[in-house]
Amino acid sequence: MIQLIRGFRDILPGEVELWQQIEQKAAKLFKDFGFAEIRIPIMERTELFARSIGEDTDIVEKEMYTFPDRGGELITLRPEATASIVRAYIQHKLYAGDPVKKLYTIGPMFRRERPQKGRYRQFYQINAEVFGIASPLIDVQLILMLVTLFSRLSVTDAVPHINSLGCPQCRPQFKALLTDFLAAKTDNLCPDCIRRSERNPLRVLDCKVPSCRESLSEAPSIVDTLCPDCSRDFDTVRKTLDRLSIPFQVDKRLVRGLDYYTRTTFEIQTGALGAQNAVAGGGRYDGLVKALGGPDLPATGFAVGFDRLAEIVGLDKQDYVAAPDIFIAALGEQCIIKAFEWSCALGREGIRIDMDFSDKSLKSQMKRADRSGARHVLIVGEKELEQQAVIVRDMNTSAQQKIPIAGLTEKIKALIDRKQD
Ligand code: AMP
Repeated sequence: MIQLIRGFRDILPGEVELWQQIEQKAAKLFKDFGFAEIRIPIMERTELFARSIGEDTDIVEKEMYTFPDRGGELITLRPEATASIVRAYIQHKLYAGDPVKKLYTIGPMFRRERPQKGRYRQFYQINAEVFGIASPLIDVQLILMLVTLFSRLSVTDAVPHINSLGCPQCRPQFKALLTDFLAAKTDNLCPDCIRRSERNPLRVLDCKVPSCRESLSEAPSIVDTLCPDCSRDFDTVRKTLDRLSIPFQVDKRLVRGLDYYTRTTFEIQTGALGAQNAVAGGGRYDGLVKALGGPDLPATGFAVGFDRLAEIVGLDKQDYVAAPDIFIAALGEQCIIKAFEWSCALGREGIRIDMDFSDKSLKSQMKRADRSGARHVLIVGEKELEQQAVIVRDMNTSAQQKIPIAGLTEKIKALIDRKQD
């Protein structure tokens, strides 16, 4: 039997309903905050990711699914969405007229990481990107949106961690300080960090290897070397979060490690996920639109790890699994044909229906009806058909009543009293 590829997975019925619920809540959140949806391709030219994510990152160095297509062009399955959305923003001149655009997308990403719980090679993200707004207040609003989404999904224990990455003016000073600090620690750093400490020292700060983490506990904090503008923005972020009563932690280790990223950066962490504790990450990337050939416009955004979010939502199954409104149990060939016609008519009216096509005993059909979670069962046998009637059983109370077939659809509609979706 052919199995699926390692690190890839199927989302099966039962779980998919939860995913749909998260998608709906996310779409509603984006509507509430004035975001429009954008859909971007799964594949792009490799160069787009190499240039935007950065050559010195794990993603570009070792995790991308890159291959030549049949024409010989190097293409890559997208490892993240920001680069594609920036490309689309530039390519379609979405900045013309009003450069302010708030966009979101939901879909799969691909990274060839070592698979483990909470880490897949095809995983899903909810992405938001805001273009053309330099004010740090929009960063706070993005954090508020994440907190709101998590609360609407009954996620407890999700805390924003924030940091600033400074800007091209003040970051070099911090980089120099950090490089000096790291030079004295090389004995305790992992080989990746030793390499990074020369090429991209900020990345060392978020290494997860325990000995590196320990050596970095005394590392300098960028917040202490921010220039006045960056410092003022970071203050605004902290004060505004306080004013909105959003608890947060300042985390000097939170970095994105690329030159395009600037100022506010954030992550939502949770204790509910074990090692993979980041359920969302984001921040400002003011240099990227320009670096990819567009105008010099600020941008900021976030990515929620959908798979991880699905693990920690606190909703009840009843909140999102749609059981049939009506299950029809029919006994005998004539009744099955009638039941089939009713089920088609009811389904067309937007009533959720299911029926048993097997002509098995009533007991066996009722078992199936019970398993389906249907609130009501219509029972029809030869006798009922003769009387032009059906029995309606309320599965919660076990009460039964006989109702005439005439006007059945309207009667069922009145019975189920459900807002049609
Ligand atoms: P990033 O694009 O790396 O900032 O990741 C944003 C979010 O996506 C993270 O906080 C995770 O929740 C999620 N994520 C990243 N990589 C994976 C993966 N390999 N498997 C599952 N979720 C992931």
